[in-house]
Amino acid sequence: MDTQLEIARRRTFGIISHPDAGKTTLTEKLLLFGGAIQEAGAVKSNKIKKGATSDFMEIERQRGISVSTSVLAFNYKSKKINILDTPGHKDFAEDTFRTLTAVDSVIVVIDVAKGVEEQTEKLVAVCRLRKIPMIVFINKLDREGKDAFDLMDEVEQKLGLKVTPLSFPIGMGYDFKGIYNIWEKNVNLFTSDSKKNIEDTIAIDDLNSTELDQLVGKSASDKLREELELIQEVYPAFDRESYLLGEQQPVLFGSALNNFGVRELLDCFLDIAPPPTPKETEQRIILPEEPKMTGFVFKIHANMDPKHRDRLAFIKIVSGTFERNKSYLHTRLQKSFKFSSPNAFFAEKKEIVDVSFAGDIVGLHDTGNFKIGDTLTEGENLKFKGIPSFSPEHFRYVNNADPLKSKQLEKGIDQLMDEGVAQLFTLDLNGRKVIGTVGALQYEVIQYRLEHEYGAKCSYENFPAYKACWIETSDPREEQYLDFKRVKQKFLAKDKSCKEVFLADSEFSIQMAAQKYPNVKLHFTSEF
Ligand code: GDP
Repeated sequence: MDTQLEIARRRTFGIISHPDAGKTTLTEKLLLFGGAIQEAGAVKSNKIKKGATSDFMEIERQRGISVSTSVLAFNYKSKKINILDTPGHKDFAEDTFRTLTAVDSVIVVIDVAKGVEEQTEKLVAVCRLRKIPMIVFINKLDREGKDAFDLMDEVEQKLGLKVTPLSFPIGMGYDFKGIYNIWEKNVNLFTSDSKKNIEDTIAIDDLNSTELDQLVGKSASDKLREELELIQEVYPAFDRESYLLGEQQPVLFGSALNNFGVRELLDCFLDIAPPPTPKETEQRIILPEEPKMTGFVFKIHANMDPKHRDRLAFIKIVSGTFERNKSYLHTRLQKSFKFSSPNAFFAEKKEIVDVSFAGDIVGLHDTGNFKIGDTLTEGENLKFKGIPSFSPEHFRYVNNADPLKSKQLEKGIDQLMDEGVAQLFTLDLNGRKVIGTVGALQYEVIQYRLEHEYGAKCSYENFPAYKACWIETSDPREEQYLDFKRVKQKFLAKDKSCKEVFLADSEFSIQMAAQKYPNVKLHFTSEF
């Protein structure tokens, strides 16, 4: 087996969208192309549905599904494609942020009628910050929606992207005739059929020929010609280099439900998307083709069965090959571990494999040794960067509700925080513990899991914080810093890795602090 070839043929990406834009549907259609599944309906939605079931039952269901959809892999046209699942629900946004540290590119799905929505904005902002290459897929063209040019304007303005269309719709909704593929220079005529697996496209060498008129009608073809001209004037030509640098984002149109435009999306993705990309450690940059294995933990999943207390740690392999039963250094613990049953993921199954390559994700059984962000190597002391914690949006004191179970509570909280369910802050003033989450749902998850997995009970009390700001100072003896600490004493805490945090109670107090103490830098993420 040629390792370099194996690495070069991997494409690891995530699909991000606001809930309901069509991420699950698109994922499923992509898997159909790989022959990884035979029929529609095989990919389960990881959506949280409010309804008959109570919230925590829903959460348990969600956890089960999210194991099975964590990584979906398939082979297509000699490439190995790994799709990493990114929950769309805002209460699981932190999980999605972390998953984005493990992808080499993303596809952004946007609903043609709803346009850019809130969750898309947040997730794209993270991708933009990290300069992740993005392809935009405008979905549901079979429905009435916004004008394609208006939508691209909206994408540029709200998401801060620089787009260039690689395909363009001919009509829309009731009048939807098909798509002109600028990338491949052909036309795909629309027939609504969700079971269609292979699309027939008609090559159009000369847009001015009558061939196009015959296919879609004279008025539609004239309109298309005008629009394509406008596109040429307004948008820059596609430039792969700019795309790879995160400076330009190609846009494609389609309808996932009708499996329309999906083959084009996948083929375009294969043509342009990056193979495994280099990644920074605190020590140096790691190249995927380096012979020695390096990787990091981006997700931890507790076992659903309370009798088996082990967890599955998801590792993104950054370089080299990961081998079964080989010894690897866990650099935070400075301890070596061997893994006898590393899981690899195929379609919706996972199975034990002997070798995985850079770009792949392996799931390792873990009894509590891993935390999000941990690094594995063949001996070199490295620590991967870029897996920060983000400021939570909700804060509550956590109290022990069963004094006989304080050990269990401590262990439970500790492990749940390692899994990244929420963040723990310890107040400087009195040592009280505050749990910060992205969504209120997580408090229910924590309470439920503490009770069912650790036999501990907790209660919450509101803590009046607005944001967690990680504090940076160039000199801990500096006057402004000391003054800041004295004045804000009540709001100071340590995060789990003992970094100093200011739990600000309002936007106003953050602004005031920034004004009054310009030498004290406040950050909304733990890495700066
Ligand atoms: P997710 O929340 O982003 O995973 O969205 P889903 O894939 O679950 O899709 C949300 C809803 O939109 C479902 O009812 C889909 O059947 C529907 N949907 C997805 N793609 C299309 C499309 O191309 N056209 C239409 N009309 N509906 C679609």
